[in-house]
Amino acid sequence: MILYLALYIIIFFLGASIGSFIGAIASRLNPKKKSNISFPKIFLTRSRCDNCGKILKPVELIPLLSYIFQKGKCTKCKSKINMSLFWLEIISGFTFFIPFYLFFQFQQYTLEFVLVGLLLSFFFIYLGYFDYLYWEVPVYLILFAFIVFSVSYIFLYFFGKIELIKIVEYFLSGITGVSVIVALIALSKGRGLGFGDAWIFGLVGFILGWKGLIVVFFLSTVVGSLIGLLKAIFVNQKIKGTMIQFIPFISLGFIIAYFEHQIVFNMLFPYL
Ligand SMILES: [Zn+2]
Repeated sequence: MILYLALYIIIFFLGASIGSFIGAIASRLNPKKKSNISFPKIFLTRSRCDNCGKILKPVELIPLLSYIFQKGKCTKCKSKINMSLFWLEIISGFTFFIPFYLFFQFQQYTLEFVLVGLLLSFFFIYLGYFDYLYWEVPVYLILFAFIVFSVSYIFLYFFGKIELIKIVEYFLSGITGVSVIVALIALSKGRGLGFGDAWIFGLVGFILGWKGLIVVFFLSTVVGSLIGLLKAIFVNQKIKGTMIQFIPFISLGFIIAYFEHQIVFNMLFPYL
């Protein structure tokens, strides 16, 4: 029991550390600031305070706890650390913890399924956090994911692990994802959704198929609209002109749909 608890705490903090790393990479790749960090350095350079440039000590890199003990401030210049980092670490911790918990406790998934799911989940968390910070999507990453999945499907097909009809379904779901969002952009005359959302929904369909696409679309629009409404009422105090970053909600929807889209789908359409 104690051993399991210790294991789960370690797993949670591993996830939170990945979140912390994602936050650092996203802040180094600010599209609005021309930086001259070369490719490997983006991953290797040591983290600094955004305000005073102080290099963070190892103890200041411990996810969540360092934020709590430093009361959300830099130890040197006392400037506030972006609170979104704290939330990013919590979400990443749970994203890592929950699938492993289900895997160990209920033998629900295969290890292979969990590992691929976690890799994809953190990819989507990165996209979501990037959108949260800069209101845009790194399209080259989505293109990269499309290529990786196309190649994987071809390999899986040749090794007899996937049927051709399934690949056709993924392909058509991807096209549907892009088309629906482009249609919505045209209908709303560009207010609200952007082409970044279209690419991401295309990728969601291409990875999860049509059921997953519907679940992600439903979850992200419902939760996103709700949060947008709350922001309009409590933060901006007006509905008109209130904008929210939408991709974090697509990412959340993706993670849920990857692991459990059948359950959500059955709740939405009990008769299908
Ligand atoms: Zn500082």
